Amino acid sequence: MLGDGLRRAAAMAMAAAIATPAAAADVDRRLVLVTLDGLPWTEVFRGADPARADDKTFTTERALIRKDFLDPPDRRAALMPFLTGPVAKQGVLLGDRDHGGCAAVANDRWFSYPGYNEILTGRPDPAIGSNAHGSNANVTFLEWLNRRPEFRGKVEVAASWDVFDQIIPPRSGVRVNAGWAGGGTAGPIAALQRDAPRLWPTARLDGFTQAWAMEALKVRKPRVLYVAYDETDDFAHDGRYDQMLWAARRADGFVAELWRTLQADPAYAGKTTLIVTTDHGRGTQAPDAWKHHGPKAPGSDAIWIAAIGPGVRAGAAPVGCASQSQIAATALKALGLDVAAFDPRAGAPLEIFR
Ligand SMILES: [Zn+2]
Repeated sequence: MLGDGLRRAAAMAMAAAIATPAAAADVDRRLVLVTLDGLPWTEVFRGADPARADDKTFTTERALIRKDFLDPPDRRAALMPFLTGPVAKQGVLLGDRDHGGCAAVANDRWFSYPGYNEILTGRPDPAIGSNAHGSNANVTFLEWLNRRPEFRGKVEVAASWDVFDQIIPPRSGVRVNAGWAGGGTAGPIAALQRDAPRLWPTARLDGFTQAWAMEALKVRKPRVLYVAYDETDDFAHDGRYDQMLWAARRADGFVAELWRTLQADPAYAGKTTLIVTTDHGRGTQAPDAWKHHGPKAPGSDAIWIAAIGPGVRAGAAPVGCASQSQIAATALKALGLDVAAFDPRAGAPLEIFR
């Protein structure tokens, strides 16, 4: 009996020794990066603001909003159940300034193009002073990955805002499906998109971006997917707090759907890191400051950053203020790559890994 047991143990040890190098060679780490445009940390960590939600000038649908976001005992979970639940518990959710957290942009512009450039290149570019900046001369980490043989043709972007065609320009070779013109004309998603109301000419509704993102995950299974939602920012600029809240909750559901899909697919399960963040915050001072961002809206440099995945340590709390310029390096580290090979000037990875 003892002999059999020893032999079995030896056989298992040998099997493990043989299996280990094969498993190591088989590492195929993957990444899904998500941004929710201009969603402030205050709503992410506190839930709906009772004063704004009850203000006639900001909220038309006050009874519905009360029922959805103010009456529930946990206002934070009512607004973003996935981000503040599973992601915060099994991963990290940084930037809760009510509880000693901090996350901020490094650029001094506090609007979209500079923010997305910082997220995707790992450093601010002072030359970017407008959302109409045009084609991005900087190489994003998505473009850099797409130039590597093991990632070529396996990096994709689905974005609501059409400016992503310029932030990650055609030169990059990255497949970018952005704005109302994104996705072409064939198939059911394109047909629905063509016939939908265009609330904003430069940004399609996030439900379409989600449909394209899900199609990418199911059909082409890219190693790296970047999904950029927009509605939270545009509804805020429109002064529609009720619509901004619903957009945030829908986006939280979209991210949960992405994560569920990844976990149900052997191509992604157990080897995919999800990073979720925002390009900028919103003003925090005057009663209507939440509608705005930029240096004239103090507080709108504050952001939040979430991550979950096989290498992320649950509840990790980096020392100091997490910077938007660290997201590129964090994404590359999650893929097993060194940021120095991409750009030694980029911010260092966030200290959130095991
Ligand atoms: Zn904006």
